[in-house]
Amino acid sequence: MEFVKIRRERAVDAVYDALRQAIVSCSMKPGERLNVEELAGKMGVSLTPVRGAIQQLATEGLVEVRPRSGTFVASLTPQDLDETFKLRSALECLAAEEAIERIQPEQLARLHELLKSLKRKVTNEAERRAHEQGNSEFHQIFIDASGNQRLADMYHALNAHIKIVRIHAGESGWPLRLQEEQAEHEAIVAALEARDAAALTAALRKHIYRAKDAMIAVIRAAE
Ligand SMILES: [Zn+2]
Repeated sequence: MEFVKIRRERAVDAVYDALRQAIVSCSMKPGERLNVEELAGKMGVSLTPVRGAIQQLATEGLVEVRPRSGTFVASLTPQDLDETFKLRSALECLAAEEAIERIQPEQLARLHELLKSLKRKVTNEAERRAHEQGNSEFHQIFIDASGNQRLADMYHALNAHIKIVRIHAGESGWPLRLQEEQAEHEAIVAALEARDAAALTAALRKHIYRAKDAMIAVIRAAE
């Protein structure tokens, strides 16, 4: 059996990565129109990989294709967030149950390091971004520890939406409820170490649903 060699990074993947990054970091804002010709020109590629990348982003819900009108960066409604966070909670709880048996000592050590660094005060934009990154990494450890690749892929797709809202929330001065968050993260790690699946999933769900309500409030306020 012989296979054709595949180039490591196809143009469509490179375009996809660049567009996803632009959307998630909000260099491209929700509602902004995507012009295929213009994007292809800017990136120095043909139209095909740009169309392919947009198709992929549409599957993830990051762009909306509106017939007869064009392609736009998706905007998020309170309902979108509600649905996204409920799925996120289900995926994280499933991952956490698996993680109880599978988590590695170095992953557990990293969780404790993150608990320490997330305790630090957030006084400016750079610190807020670092905090968000630490928070994402904290949750990602459970996904990684589950060892379930399909779950990880679904989580990755969902997370883009959550990142978008987080960044917007920061722009509109979302008050970070740091103390509450810290206590929740500590409860999550304690339940993991006690190998208490019921307490672990309850703690995770409480944390994620609180974040959901806080973000929906931000979106509502911006409407
Ligand atoms: Zn968290």
